Amino acid sequence: MTDGLLDRYQEIVGVDVTNNLRQLAEPLRGAKVVHVNSTRDGGGVAEILHRMIPLKQELGLEPSWEVIVGDEEFYQCTKYMHNTLQGNRFEIPNPLLRRYEEINQDNAERLREHLEKADFVFIHDPQPAPMLNLCTGRRGKWIWRCHIDVSRPYRPVWKYLRGYVEPYDASIWSLAEFAQPLHHPLYLIRPSIDPLSEKNIELQESELEEVVERFGLDPNRPIILQVSRFDRFKDPLGVIQAFRLAKAFTPLQLVLAGGGATDDPEGEEVVAEARAAAMDEPDIHILLLPSDAHRTINGLQRISDIVVQKSTKEGFGLTVTEAMWKGKPVIGGEVGGIRLQVHDHHTGFLVNTPEGAALRIRYLLTHRDKLQEMGQKAQQFVMENFLITRHVREYLTLMVAILRGTEERIELYDSP
Ligand code: UDP
Repeated sequence: MTDGLLDRYQEIVGVDVTNNLRQLAEPLRGAKVVHVNSTRDGGGVAEILHRMIPLKQELGLEPSWEVIVGDEEFYQCTKYMHNTLQGNRFEIPNPLLRRYEEINQDNAERLREHLEKADFVFIHDPQPAPMLNLCTGRRGKWIWRCHIDVSRPYRPVWKYLRGYVEPYDASIWSLAEFAQPLHHPLYLIRPSIDPLSEKNIELQESELEEVVERFGLDPNRPIILQVSRFDRFKDPLGVIQAFRLAKAFTPLQLVLAGGGATDDPEGEEVVAEARAAAMDEPDIHILLLPSDAHRTINGLQRISDIVVQKSTKEGFGLTVTEAMWKGKPVIGGEVGGIRLQVHDHHTGFLVNTPEGAALRIRYLLTHRDKLQEMGQKAQQFVMENFLITRHVREYLTLMVAILRGTEERIELYDSP
C-alpha cells in the first residue's frame, strides 16, 4: 500500500523536502527504472530496495526490482569477489569465474527483454555486473551502483571486474575514496534508512519488554548490541573481546544479532567461530534471526544502551544509521562509511581495536549524560543526512541529469 506515503514522510522531514521530490520526479514521470541485485533478503542493499521501490512508484515512476539467481559456486565466487574487493588477497579460481559468467548469461536470458526496454537500469554490486554486456539491445541508461568498501581492492580482481563496469553510462559510490578511475561520470550517493519501515518505526513499551523477555535478557543490566550478518569484516570476535574487557569492570550483557543473506555462503562458519569465542557465557547472546525479523531488530536496537559496529571494512553500515536514528551512540570501527556517520566524540566513538571499544563502552556507561547527549546528536544527524527522502532526491537528480545533461538549464515546475 503506497497511498499517502509522501504525506507520511512530510510529517517527518517537512513539506519543502517532499515538494522538492515531486518536482524532481515530474520530468521522469512514467520512466521505467529497473534495479537488479542478487538477494531479496538480507543485507543493506535489499533493505534499501524494499523501501525505495514504493516511494519511486508513488512519485510517478515505473520502478521494478529483479534479483539474479545463482547456485552454490556462483555465490562462492561472488563472496570471494566481495572479500577481495574489500582487500583480501586471494586468487579466485578460474572455474568459479566461468560459473559467474555462465550464471549471468542464464539470468540475462530471463531478464533481457525487461532490461532492454527500461529507461534506467541500476545494477547493484559485482554479482550482476556482466548483465550490461549481455543486453546488447538496451536502449536506456545503465548505472553500476557499488555498495562495498573498495578503497583498497585486490588489484587482479578489480581489473577483472573493471572490464564489466567500464562500459556503464555512470557509476555510484558511497564514498569518494572508494571510487576507482573509470571513463564515465562517477557519482557519490550515501545510502539511507526509512523512518517508516518496520525496522525503524517507534515501538510500544510493551513490545520492547516482550523482546527483553523473549531473549532472556536482564532489564537491569546494560545491553551492548551489534546487528550484522555473520561476516568476518563485521568482526564479531572483536566485539566479544571488547565485551569481555569491559565486563571485567561493569556488569554487562552482549547481544550479537544476525542472520544470513541468501547470497552469503560464509555465514555458518562465522557463527561457529563466534559461538566458540563466546564459550557458553550466559551473558553473550548470539541470535540467529530470520531475514524478516525487522521489528525484533528494531526492538533490540531500542532496548540497547550502546550499539557497536566494529567492522574492519564497511561500505556504509545501515546498522549504524538505524541505531543512531533510535538515539543510540554508536561505537564503530574507524573504516569506510562508518566514518561518515560516527563523528568521534559527537555521535559516538570511532575505534580501531577491541581495547578501544571496551574503553569507550566503559566511558559511556559511567557518563550517562554523555551517552544521552551523543544519542540525541546521532538522531539529529541521521534526520539531516541519511533518510530515504534525501536518498531518493539524489537518485532523481542523477536521472534527470543523465537524461538532460546536455541542456544548459533544466527547468523544474511546481507540482500542482
Ligand atoms: N539485518 C537484518 N537482519 C540481520 C542482519 C542485518 O535485517 O540478521 C539488516 C540490518 O538491520 C541492516 C542491513 O541488514 O538494515 C545490513 O546493512 P549494512 O549496511 O549494515 O551491512 P551489509 O549487510 O549490507 O554489509
